Amino acid sequence: MSGPFFFYREEKMATIGFFGVGHMGGPMALNLQKAGHTVKAFDLSADLVQLIVDAGGLAAKDAADTAKDVDVVVSMLPAGPHVSAVYNKEVLPNAAPGTLLIDCSTIDVDTSRAVHKAAAEKGFDMVDAPVSGGVGGAEAGTLTFMVGGSDKAFEAARTYLDIMGKNIVHCGGAGNGQAAKICNNMMLGIQMLSVAEAFVLAEKLGLDHQKLFDVSSTASGQCWSLTTYCPVPGPVPTSPANRDYQPGFAAAMMLKDLRLAQDASGSAGAVTEMGQHAADLYTRFAESGNEGVDFSGIINMIRNS
Ligand code: NAD
Repeated sequence: MSGPFFFYREEKMATIGFFGVGHMGGPMALNLQKAGHTVKAFDLSADLVQLIVDAGGLAAKDAADTAKDVDVVVSMLPAGPHVSAVYNKEVLPNAAPGTLLIDCSTIDVDTSRAVHKAAAEKGFDMVDAPVSGGVGGAEAGTLTFMVGGSDKAFEAARTYLDIMGKNIVHCGGAGNGQAAKICNNMMLGIQMLSVAEAFVLAEKLGLDHQKLFDVSSTASGQCWSLTTYCPVPGPVPTSPANRDYQPGFAAAMMLKDLRLAQDASGSAGAVTEMGQHAADLYTRFAESGNEGVDFSGIINMIRNS
């Protein structure tokens, strides 16, 4: 009798040029390495690149070298101008034909689509793949990826996104990952404000925080900002309100995403008045010294207005 059969799928290990190994990019790059891929890292901070080298990776000689002789480029950069400069000046002129391009940064939809177009004109497959899940999700490899690009580019990118994330959603064509990200975060910003205002009103009406939570968490006011991220201490022990609003998700990041949503509304001709108002309130909150405070801390500004 013959023994059991084992079927192996030979998985090709890739060399990945990685731009931006900061809070998010660092752990994402380390997870790619742990899965057996070789990361060639580049960052403006040599110390951050050294962390990748210490874990068995390579240091790119410079920005141009990061895109040379690699199978995949991944970028995790602060904002649109960084992504535009890196792709137009470093990646597109230096990457070999067939290199897969994955931009995981959160940037404006227009810049993302312009970079996609420039990449397509040179024959590269590209996806925009912004994330949600924060540094904890990046470290655990449990990020949600919202992906824009062709079916072919998505399928190719999935191999790598599956290593860094748990929930990978193909949102449509070029820039649609960015579109999904800012629509979601605009909802989040507005919902947090609604929950914060309701708790402040409850305080003034003599209604206990826990009682409002017990009602609304199972009634029609229910939402993530209430049940997972409650902006007052007590009802949800893991929410940042219980640790003096240490982030979490900093107010500066929420403001960045709300501004991106307003940019997108302007260029797409959408009317998003609540989104605009949320952006105004978060501007006031962040600019009064709270950039690094968790975004749920805006309840303190509302309470003291
Ligand atoms: P970060 O500032 O820690 O990392 C960005 C890195 O890019 C820095 O180390 C910086 O030195 C590097 N960099 C800047 N310009 C560069 C260039 N030209 N070439 C190479 N490296 C360059 O920021 P982060 O928190 O890791 O965020 C990165 C992206 O992820 C942002 O777009 C952010 O909006 C998004 N994001 C962050 C979080 C979060 O919780 N931190 C969550 C979701 C999405």
